[in-house]
Amino acid sequence: MEARKENQEERASGNLGKIQLHKKTVLIPEMNRAAALFFAATFRGFGVEARALETYKGLDLGKEYTSGKECYPCQVTLGDILYFVQKEKERLGRAFDPGQYVYFLPESDGPCRFGLYNRFQRIVLDSFPGLDRLKISSITTRDGYSFSGILEKEKVLDFQKSGYFAVVVADIMDRLLWRIRPYEEKQGTADEFIESSLRKLEKTFEEHGPSKDFGEILDDVVQIIEEGKALIDSKIPPKPLIGIVGEIFLRTHVQSNQDIIRQLEKYGAEVVNASVAEWANYVSYDGLRSAKAQVRLNFKQMRFSPMWSKLKEMLGFGIDLYYKEHRQNQVYNRIQPVIDLIGDHKISHLEEILEENDLFSFDVATEACLSIASIISCARAGYNGMVNVYPFTCMPSTTTSAVVKPLMSELGTPYLDAPYDSGIQPGREAAIRTFMYQAEQHFRRHGRMKRTHSR
Ligand code: SF4
Repeated sequence: MEARKENQEERASGNLGKIQLHKKTVLIPEMNRAAALFFAATFRGFGVEARALETYKGLDLGKEYTSGKECYPCQVTLGDILYFVQKEKERLGRAFDPGQYVYFLPESDGPCRFGLYNRFQRIVLDSFPGLDRLKISSITTRDGYSFSGILEKEKVLDFQKSGYFAVVVADIMDRLLWRIRPYEEKQGTADEFIESSLRKLEKTFEEHGPSKDFGEILDDVVQIIEEGKALIDSKIPPKPLIGIVGEIFLRTHVQSNQDIIRQLEKYGAEVVNASVAEWANYVSYDGLRSAKAQVRLNFKQMRFSPMWSKLKEMLGFGIDLYYKEHRQNQVYNRIQPVIDLIGDHKISHLEEILEENDLFSFDVATEACLSIASIISCARAGYNGMVNVYPFTCMPSTTTSAVVKPLMSELGTPYLDAPYDSGIQPGREAAIRTFMYQAEQHFRRHGRMKRTHSR
């Protein structure tokens, strides 16, 4: 434990870890476009120069500096930062100063390789002359993605609240797109409309994020939703409802998953992807859960000093989870009377589902526990098909696939595994088309879930 702490401190004082962003330009990798834009705008509102990185244009660079054994999101994000450096050097010439930038790359603790992306990318950046000065700043699941040590003390809490709000609103904007696009009167209008709305909301976040004026931000969101609703052609009947789960980067990053949502829509689906806020809520939930277990253990062993410290941790994670769920509900409660967007589930509900038949355990952590439970929850609620989207060889998603396949046959809900790397699989479109045929049959026989239901 002590050794790990020392390591963290060592890293923090170097060019990887909790690096202060003050007076630097922060580079935000894009996983979901809306969240990257809103997050960067929120940073700017708090006085930190920030910009979302262009994505996927540097994939060749990402592949050149990886061995092929790394997870696909690691290749994509590495490519994004290398591409940025290349372009910035071209733009600024000799004035390019790598020490002026901080690359923001969160990490996750646990059995997965996500915790190693930033270390690996550090090694790659260090191998280029001068790029050791381009620091990597990380927030980690270990402390519930706290920004302490990254921003000035007095800004930390406010930024965390505004940052989380940005993530929830980004989810809403994605859900709005998936709600409108399959029913748009004129093809292409939904995409255009959402892109221009994101740009509008960037300004809103920059202006109102620091004062946590969430009511003002929501007023703008509601106005956008009302305009977006007008693009729906009410004559188009409801379509089969397809749910997506899986590894967060792949299921969210449109370029990496070869725009699977659009592909499904092409064959007649209305799609709802798992939210990004789900992961943020899960991190707090998991922190609370582990702290509780430690409190119990220390109590049994009568180790009272560590027990108090774990109790404090438990309280911190508990408050954090309560805040997030409360804020998320508030946002959905405000927008659902305006448009019938499908809401989000509670993480505790997902754990209850797994416990019912001892299917899997939250003790294993990773996204498998979320995906397995979500698939079952959505299938029971009346989705017409479920898709598991993930990077080729992804450990948690392969586990998910193994556990849920037999269950989906029992439940009679069509299911598709969709693993991706940068290659084009010749049979992919046929698999999606066949899956959608099955989903259509399911829809005709059973109807579909009402949109007022949560995921
Ligand atoms: S979740 Fe999958 S893609 Fe992400 S680090 Fe783990 S194994 Fe890699």
